[in-house]
Amino acid sequence: MDMTAIASLTSAISAAREIAQGAIGVRDAVLINEATGRLVQKLLDAQNALLEHNAALLQLQNEHFKVHEELRELREAASERGRYTLFELVPGKFAYRVNIAPEQSGSSEPGSAEPLHYVCQGCFDQGRKAVLRISEYVAFCPLCKDNIRLRERPAQATPQVVSAWSKRDW
Ligand SMILES: [Zn+2]
Repeated sequence: MDMTAIASLTSAISAAREIAQGAIGVRDAVLINEATGRLVQKLLDAQNALLEHNAALLQLQNEHFKVHEELRELREAASERGRYTLFELVPGKFAYRVNIAPEQSGSSEPGSAEPLHYVCQGCFDQGRKAVLRISEYVAFCPLCKDNIRLRERPAQATPQVVSAWSKRDW
């Protein structure tokens, strides 16, 4: 809060009141004009102080709104983060696994329970959420394109070998 603006406002209003009280009963036109001029100046000072005060108040409201929004985002991020637990997919390779609470899976709406899934550890640590696409052999992150090999693919026969087998069989 800008206390200077409030002090200026109070001072200008007090001075204006004193000028107005001093002008009561004055019959001299010159004195009345001089008092009116001072009164108008003090009212302008009060108006300026009020404008400064309102500008400071508006700035404080904007700052308050920004801080409130940041706090809300941080709370949401913390809440979202608390829904996942670090999980080792394969030795040395991690992902976050969703915590499925009993009350979530026991939802009143059939089929609304969140399915078990994993999110990319690297992306999640940077504030991004990417559900891993998991196949039999790899877990793939659609954001950072990280591929985590879950198990070795079985060796596939080459076409030549297939062809040799075919000739031998026939
Ligand atoms: Zn990723």
